[in-house]
Amino acid sequence: MRNRAVVLGGGMAGLVAAKVLSEQFEQVLLVDRDQLAGVDEPRRGVPQGAHAHGLLAKGQEVLEGMFPGLTGELADAGIPMGDMGVNLRWYFNGRRLQPYETGLKVISATRPELESAVRARVRALPNVTFLENRAILALTVTADRSRVTGVTIEGEEIAADLVVDATGRGSRTPAWLAELGYPRPEEDRVKIGLSYTTCHFRLRENVLGEDMAILCVATPENPRGAFFSRLNDRYLLSLTGMLGDQAPTDQEGHLAFVKSLVVPDIYDAVHDATLLDERVAFRYPASVWKHYERLARFPQGLLVVGDGVCSFNPVYGQGMTVAALEGLTLREHLKGGGLPDAKAFFTDVAKVIEAPWGVSVGGDLSYPGVEGERNEQVRMANAYMDRLRAAAEHDGTITAAFLRVAGLIDPVESLMSPEMAERVSRAAETQNA
Ligand SMILES: Cc1cc2nc3c(=O)[nH]c(=O)nc-3n(C[C@H](O)[C@H](O)[C@H](O)COP(=O)(O)OP(=O)(O)OC[C@H]3O[C@@H](n4cnc5c(N)ncnc54)[C@H](O)[C@@H]3O)c2cc1C
Repeated sequence: MRNRAVVLGGGMAGLVAAKVLSEQFEQVLLVDRDQLAGVDEPRRGVPQGAHAHGLLAKGQEVLEGMFPGLTGELADAGIPMGDMGVNLRWYFNGRRLQPYETGLKVISATRPELESAVRARVRALPNVTFLENRAILALTVTADRSRVTGVTIEGEEIAADLVVDATGRGSRTPAWLAELGYPRPEEDRVKIGLSYTTCHFRLRENVLGEDMAILCVATPENPRGAFFSRLNDRYLLSLTGMLGDQAPTDQEGHLAFVKSLVVPDIYDAVHDATLLDERVAFRYPASVWKHYERLARFPQGLLVVGDGVCSFNPVYGQGMTVAALEGLTLREHLKGGGLPDAKAFFTDVAKVIEAPWGVSVGGDLSYPGVEGERNEQVRMANAYMDRLRAAAEHDGTITAAFLRVAGLIDPVESLMSPEMAERVSRAAETQNA
């Protein structure tokens, strides 16, 4: 057993890291500036928690593997669940993908509900201790600055064999590296000017039946998007705008935005519904990938995970799943005893990020207003994906294959196979006939 690990940040990435570290370290301390105990509502340190948060099929699979019985627990708590291809109504450009059973489970939990369930499991681990309401101030290092020896939090210094930074998008590791005389990681940054505006409703009747959500996916042709979900006790509506567009928070402007969506069903459902709270807005300027794997020098005893490494355009719903997958990577790198080698760890984390980043940035570059290099490959892939989604309107097999890729279960190459390409062409011919 190694002695003590400290996890900075108790969001999804921090919780998963704490669980994995608890398997190898005698003691794991998890530090967060927020109160965590008993919190199942959005909190200050995770402002995105107020907005629609879908857990992809792969994330559900990984979390269930780490915390056996988690899905059942959520079901027992009344959280709606269903099949990704049957119970979610997917719309692209106003056309619905043909429903088709995928066998992939989706859980209609809010972000705070999911985090709270995972947190309860982590808190129950005998060698994990939560230090709440404590801001993280700085790292402590050896005199030669080659090794991180712990962390300074409000009121005390904590010594640690390993420090894992899971403080999210605002991670201070790049600044700490600079202060310690190390290079900062290079960044890929894709400006998307995305906005979310969210509120909850009570409806006169359940308009979704057994279904869990209407997903009006934003596209370059119809860049206003919406996630309208049935939760256990109410309905959530998150409206999204691209490139500076934002749904207003006043009644009239908000409803006008809902009415402008290419899918009319959402307006029909909410125009006379009871609003349960204030409309909350959130701006997400850019997707960012910090390439720690490219650094030639990095102090020992420190790792970074989650949004602190890569923050994806949230509409693709990948962040929590990537955080869970990085937990598996961490587990692999702890296996040999000793401390993980940062370079090797970040190299493997980059492999986890590469495919979802490709999906997210590839999709973003289909908007003419998004700056970035569009090589022939990106242009062709986007054109093909448009045809594929149009074909999925009539062919459920294509729906299922697409959702397996969107759910991070299958690689994107599975959509490029000759059989799939032929299916897509055949569906296009039928449509045009
Ligand atoms: C609008 C929006 C919608 C999203 N929707 C989805 C979705 O549908 N599906 C999905 O999988 N992902 C979604 N994401 C992404 C997802 O929220 C993150 O990828 C995921 O939460 C992993 O983040 P994290 O744990 O690295 O950081 P966070 O969840 O941001 O957690 C960071 C933690 O660190 C703590 N902290 C930060 N700084 C300090 C400090 N100095 N001292 C002490 N504590 C500190 C905070 O309090 C917080 O608890 C969305 C993101 C946004 C912005």
